[in-house]
Amino acid sequence: MHRTLADDLSRLPELLQSARDLAAREATGLAERTVVRFDEAPGRDPLPAEGSGGQGALARFAERWAPGFSGSAGPRYLGFVTGGATPASVAGDWLTSAYDQNVSGSGGSWAAALERETVVWLRELFGLGEEHSGAFVTGATVSNTVGLAVAREWLGERLGVDVSREGAAALGPVDVLSGSPHSSITKAMSVLGIGRDRLRRVPVLPGNREAVDVPALEDALAALEGRPAIVVANAGTVNTVDFDDLRAVAALKERYDFWLHVDAAFGGFAALSPAYAHLVDGLDAADSVCVDLHKWLNVPYDAAVQFTRRRDLQVRVFHNASPYLGLPTGDPDFLHLTPENSRRLRALPAWFSLVAYGRAGHREIVERNIALAGRLGEHLTALDGLRLLAPVRLNVVCFTLAENPTEERVDALARTVASSGETFLTPTVYGGVPALRAAFSNWRTSEADVERVLTALAAARVR
Ligand SMILES: *Cc1c(COP(=O)(O)O)cnc(C)c1O
Repeated sequence: MHRTLADDLSRLPELLQSARDLAAREATGLAERTVVRFDEAPGRDPLPAEGSGGQGALARFAERWAPGFSGSAGPRYLGFVTGGATPASVAGDWLTSAYDQNVSGSGGSWAAALERETVVWLRELFGLGEEHSGAFVTGATVSNTVGLAVAREWLGERLGVDVSREGAAALGPVDVLSGSPHSSITKAMSVLGIGRDRLRRVPVLPGNREAVDVPALEDALAALEGRPAIVVANAGTVNTVDFDDLRAVAALKERYDFWLHVDAAFGGFAALSPAYAHLVDGLDAADSVCVDLHKWLNVPYDAAVQFTRRRDLQVRVFHNASPYLGLPTGDPDFLHLTPENSRRLRALPAWFSLVAYGRAGHREIVERNIALAGRLGEHLTALDGLRLLAPVRLNVVCFTLAENPTEERVDALARTVASSGETFLTPTVYGGVPALRAAFSNWRTSEADVERVLTALAAARVR
């Protein structure tokens, strides 16, 4: 064994303790850390020839790289929809690495059974029934890709084509209909050989909405003249957190032949709050569902779950068996269900957080974040020079400059706010207007944080 490896083996507890000390310092100081860093990263070092051992690596990291990391896990990083990591989920994540299980299958370990238990808990959390089976993947983009891959296989079943053998081309042109899809949907269409241009944008409701106009969707389906299609319904759009009427969309299945995929990446968490659960009414009727976990469940990157009612088709797409062994049956190993073959025990951080805080603890995070978004929205309207672009429907505040909101001026506002180190918001365009979004999804965020965000915005806006 190489000398530094042997040294580290003999002092493993001390190394883990040192890493713990650094992590503890960073995690407790997170709320006061500069939220984002835009200054340039250090130049590249040469590949170490001998290595300096775990303690050497830790010291080098702490000195050279750690100062440039963002406070994205902290309470005032409101860009994208980011979320943080609950204390228990961080503990679970560390142990995932320490145990280093390969959850491709069940071989010789209970780890796969733990993933199955976690998926069943999540299914219940989001109000899905037993018909839905699921698996962990790395994020909502992959979850959407898996859902659309199963949808593509279903189209083959309807058209008498075995897509997994003959390829997507054997289907001919595929129609994917959606009102306000996330960009990951067209990415998935590209990956799956459906093609980005096959997205059929369906009109959304009038009156500052992003939810699909269901009669318009019905017209679009009728125009297909019986050709089966894929409908992507959106439960929580990124700009204004609007929700398609999932029940009404699902009801169209009685008359039209389509696969219903629901992108509920973060909107799915509305199910945790009785006051907002109606927004995801009908989610269970979906053929496939995407929910992100590194966002509003507040587990570390990277984690999402995908659900589907047609595990048989999922196995046709993803099975990794020798052709003469045939398709796996019963409760297939995860390697037959997801794009990955070897897989990390991504379920453990989620399992830890659900055991530690339960449904009630996670509901409190969701409801507090919604209340804080409402509070920021209210106080923003009282600030001169800013205006809301849409009502605050859930956890995202979409706003812009009251006067002359050009892209240049809005970007300048975003940069000034970010350079304060106090908060980070991401630019967007909503209804053709350059805007900013403040997305609340972090378990640490408090009313005092909203005050600090307002102060930073007030200071930046007058410059
Ligand atoms: C964030 C998001 C995605 C993509 O999620 P990743 O985890 O970044 O892959 C997809 N859909 C919606 C609605 C999202 O908010």
